[in-house]
Amino acid sequence: MSADEPLIRIAGLRKSFGGHEVLKGVSVDVHPGEVVTVIGASGSGKSTFLRCINVLEKPDAGKVTFDGRTVDFAAGGGRGPSARELRALRTSIGMVFQSFNLWPHMTVLENVIEAPIRVRKVSRAEAIETAEALLRRIGLAEKRDAYPGRLSGGQQQRVAIARALAMKPQLMLFDEPTSALDPELVGDVLSLIADLAAEGMTMMLVTHEIGFAREVSTRTIFFDAGVVAEDGPSRDVLRQPQSERLRQFLKRVL
Ligand code: ADP
Ligand code: MG
Repeated sequence: MSADEPLIRIAGLRKSFGGHEVLKGVSVDVHPGEVVTVIGASGSGKSTFLRCINVLEKPDAGKVTFDGRTVDFAAGGGRGPSARELRALRTSIGMVFQSFNLWPHMTVLENVIEAPIRVRKVSRAEAIETAEALLRRIGLAEKRDAYPGRLSGGQQQRVAIARALAMKPQLMLFDEPTSALDPELVGDVLSLIADLAAEGMTMMLVTHEIGFAREVSTRTIFFDAGVVAEDGPSRDVLRQPQSERLRQFLKRVL
């Protein structure tokens, strides 16, 4: 992959639930090292978009080219992509949810080593070594053997980020990672995400933290009713919105 080629190319992505078309042909390229903020009103399709990218939802149509390989969701006479193609997307793309989604019956360490052992087939010893390094990095080494229920929301979200990073993803997706947190816990999670961005991690982030978007993200996409309504450098999109819809949206969230 050359430097000017996208890490991921999403082309013509469509998704309906029942008769309701939530994604109406979404096309976005993300290059290595880009930090892309996704904003838009509630219900505009932001979560569905992220969930389609790592195939937690199966798109109805569209192509996703990731790391040089194209998955065509409408191909094969409706048969769609193979299990192998879907697994490749899922294992190389990390996802962090608003509600943390840690496994409650597993300790912090077990949460972080589970997928590397089961999916990437790394040895338990190696998985533990990686997990301990990640837990040190997020400042939670001493919580290794605690259950998620004993941690604050901010700590749980940092563990969820460590769990995603343990898979050594090439792309990270964050879906409103701080929306469920008490205000005093938001900063720790945002600064961890900012550190990852500064280290060159490619990411897409749905957030209402416009200040963070302006400071950390290279690019901002505005979703409006299932289409990309604006897409450009964050400083332009957030400071000089082109559409009245985005002006109104920014007025509400700022
Ligand atoms: P956002 O994240 O921008 O708030 P979503 O992608 O969550 O928007 O939702 C977009 C629309 O799709 C909403 O109308 C929502 O109710 C609908 N939707 C999302 N997921 C499902 C689902 N699994 N089943 C039915 N409708 C869904
Ligand atoms: Mg959402």
